[in-house]
Formats: sequence, structure tokens, C-alpha cells
Amino acid sequence: MKYKKILAILFCIVMLCMGCSNSNDEKNYSIDNDSSDLQEDEFDYEQTDIDNSGVNCHAGLPEDILSVVPQFSGKPYVELNNNVPYFSDEEKESKEAFERYSELDELGRCGVAYANICIDIMPTEKRGEIGQIKPSGWQLIKYDIVDGNYLYNRCHLIAYQLAGENANEKNLITGTRYLNVSGMLTFENQVAEYVKATGNHVLYRVTPIYRDSDLVATGVQMEAYSVEDGGAGICYNVFVYNSQPGIGIDYATGESWLIEEINTLNEETDNASESDASKDTTLEYNSSESNTSEHNGSENNLDTQDYVVNKNTKKFHLPVCTSVDDIKEKNKKEVTCNREELIDEGYAPCKRCNP
Ligand SMILES: [Zn+2]
Repeated sequence: MKYKKILAILFCIVMLCMGCSNSNDEKNYSIDNDSSDLQEDEFDYEQTDIDNSGVNCHAGLPEDILSVVPQFSGKPYVELNNNVPYFSDEEKESKEAFERYSELDELGRCGVAYANICIDIMPTEKRGEIGQIKPSGWQLIKYDIVDGNYLYNRCHLIAYQLAGENANEKNLITGTRYLNVSGMLTFENQVAEYVKATGNHVLYRVTPIYRDSDLVATGVQMEAYSVEDGGAGICYNVFVYNSQPGIGIDYATGESWLIEEINTLNEETDNASESDASKDTTLEYNSSESNTSEHNGSENNLDTQDYVVNKNTKKFHLPVCTSVDDIKEKNKKEVTCNREELIDEGYAPCKRCNP
């Protein structure tokens, strides 16, 4: 009897190991792989019994992901698992649109957001206001060296342009401008363009990764896989850093500081000096949401401005930018909106005029 039990345990271990090596070797998504281990728990986001010996072989995310991700070194993302997403074989055949968002945890943090993107769930209207959402670790803070000045954006896990989710607190994290634009946007645009061009489905999962009880994510994992063509069109698995070059971040709280400090002024903002501080771009200042009531109406999310967009390159410019003259008429469009909306629609700011 005892002997049988030991045999059974041994058998399980062997099967698990085989499952692991199978999935590690598998880069071309053969859908006849029968390692059923990978198909269990597919939507169980609360996995706690992850076996660390098989870091890359689970349907979900390895628990110790941050130990395998290198320190941020100036590149917005790194590939995970040879760029192969962790979707199960069964998931990879799903042609039904869905969207799933995790409940906020006890610290108010977002979890996995998962969708099967297709034309049907993409938005047809302009994005609405999201300024009322305060994601965990949220701080309103500006730096001169940050594109658009605001260090943090309310960053959609599943981009607005993909699923049309607007002010959904389960889909918005405190993300740096760099994460939003240099990191996630390219991957989001790939999916949007592919779905629009083909009408196919793309499995798309974004997982914010927090260290311990940090309120701000260290980064997000992004996985995508195009269903109808077996990953030929879209297939990636990346970790995107929630970093900002030149800025230090305390992920536990969201506090931040200038690393390349030329002047050491670090002015704790009070109400009296705030309007000056926001104009003086050489100052670093900290402000909490509670003492910036006069700012709530003028936060960058609400400001509208004239821009010129290039529908071909997906760049947007200030009307005075010299590049505007070079845009072909058929690709040129003048818009009045706020820059967040443009970014959410997949446009990137021009590097010359820095709109
Ligand atoms: Zn420009």
C-alpha cells in the first residue's frame, strides 16, 4: 500500500517535469500538446500553491517572477519565457470575446486583467474621464524631465483602445509615463492594428507585479497571442518596467525623487506655493491628493489643447511643430482634446515638439 503511494507520487513528479520541459521547448504553439497539467486552474488568479521548481511551466505567472527579472537598465521591457505567453492550449483556441478583471486586493491593488480582444469589444467612442479613480499608490507629481511632466498616469491594464474599459478601478494602476508610453503602448498598438486588420481574436493578459505589500507595481507582465493564426500574427510575453529614467521611486508608497539632481531643492508643497511650484519646472515637489484640491479641476487629464495627428505614423504634434508641414494631407488631422486621450487611442507624442 505504502509502496503504491510512493509510486503514485513519483509518477506525478515525473508527469509535472515532463509538462515543464514540454512547455519550455514549445515555441511554435502546437495545439496538440496534451500536457493537461497546464490546462487546470486556467482562470484561477488566486493561485497560492505555485511550485517554484517549475518557474516557467505554469498556466499562470510564476510567483517569484521578480527574482528572474533583471534590474531596470534603460530598456523599457524584457522578454519572459522566450517571449512565449503562458496561455494553455485550451485557451489558445478560444474564439469567444471576454473580459475579466480581478477584484482589488485588501491593499486596493489591481490584479490580473484578461481579455480576448476582437473588433466587437473595441471602443467606438472617445474615452471619457478617468480622473476620479485613485489607484493604489497614486500621487500627483510633476517633474521637468518627464514627458508631459506628470510622473504618474492612471495606466490602463487593458488599454482603452482594446476593450473600451474606461473608469474601471480594476483596470487602472499607478504607472509611470515611461511605462505607459515607452513601455506598454507599442505592445498595445500591435494588438490593435492586428485585430483591426484581420478581424481575428487576440488573447491578451496584463498582470501588475507587486513586490510584497508595495502599493505601486514594479512592472506589468503583458502576454498576447493571436488565436486564428496560432500566434503567427501576435505572440509575446514581456515584463514592462514601471520605471522612469532619472527618477527614483519608492514602490511601497509611490514617493519619488529626482536621481540626477542638479539642484537639491526638494520642496514639500504647501497650498500657498503650489501654483508657483507647478510652473517652476526646475523644482521637484511632492504633493498629496488631499492638499491639491485646486488642482483637481486642472489636472492634465482634463486639459484640452489643439494637436495635429498623423494617422499614418500614429504620432501627435503641436500645431507649430515643423514636422506638421511634412505630413501628407490624407494622414493629417487636427484635433482638440487632451493628450491622455490621444495616447489611449494609440498615438505617441512627437519627440521634436514634445506635445
Ligand atoms: Zn512634432
